[in-house]
Amino acid sequence: MKKATQQQTKTHNTRLITKTIYDAGPISRAEIARLTHLTRTTVSDLVAELMEDGLVEEIGYGPSEGGKPPTLLSLVEDSRHLIGMDLANSQFRAAVVNLRGRIQHCLVRPVDDLDGQAALDLVYELADELVASTEGSRLLGIGIGTPGLMDARRGVVRRAVNLDWQDLPLGDLLEARYNLPIYIANDSQAAALAEYTFGASKDGSNLVVLKVGRGVGAGIVLGGQLHYGDGFGAGEIGHVTVVEDGQACRCGNRGCLETVTSSQFMIRRAQAIAQSDPHSSLHRFALAPEKITMETLLAAFEAGDPALGAVIDEVGHYLGVAAANLVGALNVRRIVIAGSVARFGPALLEPIVREMACRSLQTLAEETRVEISDLGPDIVILGAAALLLSHELGLS
Ligand SMILES: [Zn+2]
Repeated sequence: MKKATQQQTKTHNTRLITKTIYDAGPISRAEIARLTHLTRTTVSDLVAELMEDGLVEEIGYGPSEGGKPPTLLSLVEDSRHLIGMDLANSQFRAAVVNLRGRIQHCLVRPVDDLDGQAALDLVYELADELVASTEGSRLLGIGIGTPGLMDARRGVVRRAVNLDWQDLPLGDLLEARYNLPIYIANDSQAAALAEYTFGASKDGSNLVVLKVGRGVGAGIVLGGQLHYGDGFGAGEIGHVTVVEDGQACRCGNRGCLETVTSSQFMIRRAQAIAQSDPHSSLHRFALAPEKITMETLLAAFEAGDPALGAVIDEVGHYLGVAAANLVGALNVRRIVIAGSVARFGPALLEPIVREMACRSLQTLAEETRVEISDLGPDIVILGAAALLLSHELGLS
């Protein structure tokens, strides 16, 4: 028993030191001891083991404070690799990522109408290729961001409508096939963890990521941890009704937030504009209304199409309603907009902030910063990798 406790303490201290070097490096042993409140001997012993393991290296000397200049330590970011996968869009994206979230090898495969076993086979195909590509380097495991409702503890996809997965034990299947640690989260939750770990203004504060693409959902980080909710459905705001008797939604309900904010909604709106207005700038960028994609919308928007401005305003309005509810329920001070719809940037941000301000307590709204993520299309891959970093090395 005593031995087990000693081992636990050692693991805890090793993780603490690794995290300190990860967050604050290059850093001296003395500074680590000061920040972690561990003794200098403990720090020196554990650093020696981390160096032996290749995870940490000495990279030179810091400024002298009178005596001998201190040796600085840094994390070796390519000493371990992770595989991150994003299954949430019309393409599956998967990549090998290093410890700093730098993407080193990325694969993209169209999903088209694949679902059920065929979609699972595509996951295997991507993982097979990436695992093979990392031969010779140390692979920490596979992290996955999947759409739908997910039991993150057991690695079971409870329900993913688009992929026609129900109670799929994805974690067990992948673990048996690759003999590696597997971690899975919902795509919005993964996005939130990516923002927390790799985002531009990572300051350790609570945050909500509103991910708006084909699907719409929120990921919530509170106290440095993903908040999953009692049934792992925290942040499933995409299927809350916001329009009475609105459009039918793929979940079976009507007027969900997703039906008035998703990329599919914007594309349908743009198609209607192109069909009714022969002078619409959309015609310049798409051969026919049914060929309109998000790229077409972005091009037309950049060319200043006013009709598109109104669509973005409408989407921003409903996202602002959602943001106001999140501020009221959680009082987080940072809301980050991600996903393909976030590519409209300030034009989308403006109506969100406006609507949030007039629908929530002024003081709370004023203290809440709403911003656009700068992690781009790789956000879920990075979040899936961050999930692994957090579980396997205590980082993030
Ligand atoms: Zn719905």
